[in-house]
Amino acid sequence: MRELVIISGKGGTGKTSLTASFACLAADAVLVDCDVDAADLHILVHPEVKCAEEFRGGVKAIIDRGICTECAACREVCRFNAIDDSYVVNPVSCEGCGVCFHVCPEKAVELEENLCGRWFVSETRFGPMVHAALFPGEENSGKLVALVRNQAKVIARREGKSLILVDGAPGVGCPVISSVTGADHVLVVAEPSLSGLHDLERVCKLVSGFRIPISVVVNKRDINPLITERIEASAGNHGAQVLGTVPYDDSVIKAMVQRRAVVENGLSAAGNAVREIWDRVKTRILS
Ligand code: SF4
Ligand code: SF4
Repeated sequence: MRELVIISGKGGTGKTSLTASFACLAADAVLVDCDVDAADLHILVHPEVKCAEEFRGGVKAIIDRGICTECAACREVCRFNAIDDSYVVNPVSCEGCGVCFHVCPEKAVELEENLCGRWFVSETRFGPMVHAALFPGEENSGKLVALVRNQAKVIARREGKSLILVDGAPGVGCPVISSVTGADHVLVVAEPSLSGLHDLERVCKLVSGFRIPISVVVNKRDINPLITERIEASAGNHGAQVLGTVPYDDSVIKAMVQRRAVVENGLSAAGNAVREIWDRVKTRILS
């Protein structure tokens, strides 16, 4: 079983479009959406949810007003001003540090597990998919990413799938680290802009630290051919292979509006480039 994680230095580079096309071309992979803060792979693959589970992470303080003597000790130590003058905890402000729990002389504070989001096992026209949604403002996204990746491995083993295709989180933060840790290969999608070049360098540096092989795809190469060349050179400097480039093509937008992968819509310049890249993925990475 191989796990290919597709990431980008930031959102909007075409990472999810490429993942959906790969899912279509692979035809037999388990899909994972690790962008739990702003999941969007479901828009293109229309998952039919088979199983939904709660995700709990961290704790929130709750004060039992029947026991509380209003001594104010908890309010004095709460650095997040989460306890109001009626000794009610604001769950949005509470960071779950637990200090109030420890200082309360009456044991009036309880720390309750926090419901942060949900995760799902679904079926799509390309195969099974594991995905999740963190509730707005909630944390522990790295933990949720690890959970959905583990569930995908369980499904892949059970169903005899040889490939797990992961739409990773964008950026270089905790969810990205959780998306790539232990993966077999990371494919970075870059866009040819100065910020895209900078993002590529940051993300390559991050992934190199985990000693995971990296490859790069440049999307919309013709919007700035000069920076496309600089991205290709930078990828080489980071030990990454450039698997190919995709031209700017209205057929990608048309496919997105139709909520399909571009390779599902017949021949097009972008679709053909993605097919060639997928062939290289198969021969250079998955074989
Ligand atoms: S420390 Fe305990 S008893 Fe004192 S105000 Fe807070 S909850 Fe109430
Ligand atoms: S758990 Fe921490 S943040 Fe939450 S109310 Fe208690 S002291 Fe404040």
